[in-house]
Amino acid sequence: MSPNPYRDLPSVDRLLADDCLRSAPTDLATSMAREALDAARAAIAAGDGAPAFDAIVRDITRRIELQVRSPLRPLINATGVIIHTNLGRAPLALEAIEAMATVSGGYSNLEYDIDSGARGSRHTILEPLLCRITGAEAAMAVNNNASAVLLALAAVAAGKEVVVSRGQLVEIGGGFRIPDVMRQSRAKLVEVGTTNRTRIADFEAAITPKTAAIMRVHPSNFKISGFTETPSIEDLARVARDRGVLLIDDVGSGCLLDVSAYGLAPEPTPQASIASGADLVMFSGDKLFGGPQGGLIVGRVAVVDRLKRHPLARAVRMDKASIAGLAATLRIYLEGGAVDRIPVWRMIATPLDALAARAAAIAAAIGDAASVIDGRSMIGGGSLPEESLPTRLVALASSRGRNSTMLAARLRERSVIARVEDGRVLLDPRTIDPADDERVAQACAEALA
Ligand SMILES: *Cc1c(COP(=O)(O)O)cnc(C)c1O
Repeated sequence: MSPNPYRDLPSVDRLLADDCLRSAPTDLATSMAREALDAARAAIAAGDGAPAFDAIVRDITRRIELQVRSPLRPLINATGVIIHTNLGRAPLALEAIEAMATVSGGYSNLEYDIDSGARGSRHTILEPLLCRITGAEAAMAVNNNASAVLLALAAVAAGKEVVVSRGQLVEIGGGFRIPDVMRQSRAKLVEVGTTNRTRIADFEAAITPKTAAIMRVHPSNFKISGFTETPSIEDLARVARDRGVLLIDDVGSGCLLDVSAYGLAPEPTPQASIASGADLVMFSGDKLFGGPQGGLIVGRVAVVDRLKRHPLARAVRMDKASIAGLAATLRIYLEGGAVDRIPVWRMIATPLDALAARAAAIAAAIGDAASVIDGRSMIGGGSLPEESLPTRLVALASSRGRNSTMLAARLRERSVIARVEDGRVLLDPRTIDPADDERVAQACAEALA
């Protein structure tokens, strides 16, 4: 070590003249060089020697990369949670991505009637598709399901009462609580029944001339088991009809296909709800529906019209890219291609032997530190909380003093999000795009090295 290691540090000018940095934007490179030199001085102050010239250049390059890259980056979801809200929920079908890109890059007939050359309505784009799929008379789309619930309550129940079972006063992730939304809409919540048991007679007894609606909320992110009872949607629809109030059904996930085909417990479907006589049914676009973010609302013409005309409808309206993406996704359902072309359904439907083969190939590419074990994939996104699908996981053995938390962090640096369970890093091929398998194996090998 030289007597004054600070004097061994290169100047900013010398650093910027390096081949690796010469093509970088000067202002950015200069400030990143200053940051890197500050870090080097801090390292010297901490008792280390001056870092080598090349090491400082590499540090500057890394800092420039961090500055210029997009703050929203693609990640590989190896958690096995199919609808991962923190990772952006449903990945989209290719058709949806193309439709969104096409409509975003130019002008469109978003609110324009091509035949008459006059103003049109954005509702007319999704409405026929949603009606055909769910059997409803009318439909509209808003920003997300939370705004669908808010709009519905504000439009049909402001200043009036809405009867809800105590077992359904749920909080959906991120602080969306039914009683709070109810208050925001100026509807008055009337709770009936108990946490575990609510009977149809409880609803009948609670309806008064001030009642606007009965609301059912699918308790999508938890499960009460044991001594439980809750009226069927058919019974609720009958009481609502007999007593002249509306039935609003928040089914949550927008599950249009039969999940029992994959060994999962039944999930309420919008089409069944409409067939049972619900007046308004709402669901998310980006959960099991498998499309872009949205709140899809289907129901009776007279009721949906009240929502379309309410001032909040303008505040929560959906943008053109999402409308295009949802339309493309709806068309896949209509063509019967959901399981092949909508990623969340393709993941749910992937057979165990295909997952086992991919897990084995990934583990083989990583080497001795990887093994294949049995495990479960989750649906996630507040859908089917107790349900899981059998899968094969790649398990990484932590080694050389590197524990599983550190290993998972090193994978995150390489854009791979894994699961840590019982002190082990686990990767589930079900939620990894097969085209990324090699990259995942590569990232694991680097993280272990
Ligand atoms: C997820 C969910 C919501 C909220 O939907 P977002 O699209 O996230 O706004 C509302 N109700 C139920 C029952 C849900 O499962």
